[in-house]
Amino acid sequence: MAIQWFPGHMNLTRKVITERVKEIDVVIEVLDARLPGSSSNPLLQELTGHKPRLQVLNKQDLADAARTPLWLDWYNAQSDTRAIALDASEPAPTRRLIEACKLLAPNRGGMAKPMRVLICGIPNVGKSTLINSMSGKRQAKTGDEAGITKLEQRIVLADDFYLWDTPGMLWPRIIVEQSGYNLAASGAVGRNAYDEELVALELLGYLQKNYADMLEARYKLGLDNERIAALHDDELLDAIGRRRGAMMGGGRVNVQKAAELVLTDFRAAVLGRITLETPEEYAQWLAVGQQR
Ligand code: GDP
Repeated sequence: MAIQWFPGHMNLTRKVITERVKEIDVVIEVLDARLPGSSSNPLLQELTGHKPRLQVLNKQDLADAARTPLWLDWYNAQSDTRAIALDASEPAPTRRLIEACKLLAPNRGGMAKPMRVLICGIPNVGKSTLINSMSGKRQAKTGDEAGITKLEQRIVLADDFYLWDTPGMLWPRIIVEQSGYNLAASGAVGRNAYDEELVALELLGYLQKNYADMLEARYKLGLDNERIAALHDDELLDAIGRRRGAMMGGGRVNVQKAAELVLTDFRAAVLGRITLETPEEYAQWLAVGQQR
């Protein structure tokens, strides 16, 4: 596996999720809509078993608007699972979250049986931003209540709707090669865990085949989609470096600088709205990974 990411132990996170999930009605997993499959943590499935699941495809403003519905359909077709797409500009995230959870746990609601929801997500998917926009003044740190560890946070979104923030960190778990690259491209794994040139080349390899017009629009390579797709990925990186003035002595391209430039452009959605995997592609990567 090209990207190795061992960000410390998750024992505490694992322990608290295991305890909390016993009294939870719905598990919300916040995903990055640009890489829904890769930003999902399989450990969460192990820990939460058959609890109804709401997949929130967050940062949809950065993702390909034609692909997000494919992912929503894919999740909605699974039993006990619903999916919604959100981004930080959403005016009523709380209402949409509550509505989706009620469909998953129709028997909960009212003061006697409040809806109890656990929200999880790997770093950088926008979980804190979402929680902050929902909680406003209602936020309550409840470390003193019995049965709530100091690390946990309960947010009362409505009188009969409690949201528990996961304690500790739910680090990404990289189970297939391509997910590692996509997580690195999105900025979800630490800088020291990967080689930027390698990640930029993988990213370009995907963009050449799926978003060549965006590469042309941004980098003005003077090539049509077919010619862009036919380039070797390092030729493409070289051409981009030249166009953007990422040079070093002797008329050579500074490949490291060119790679950083491509990654920065992708992360800021300067290239356009891009999704790095379709449900079918992700399923295929998983199938290949399992054969290994
Ligand atoms: P967390 O680690 O999951 O809690 O992520 P944060 O809430 O800290 O967000 C990580 C980064 O993504 C921050 O720079 C946020 O401003 C940004 N962010 C969060 N939500 C969105 C969104 O919906 N759209 C965009 N474009 N950026 C977002």
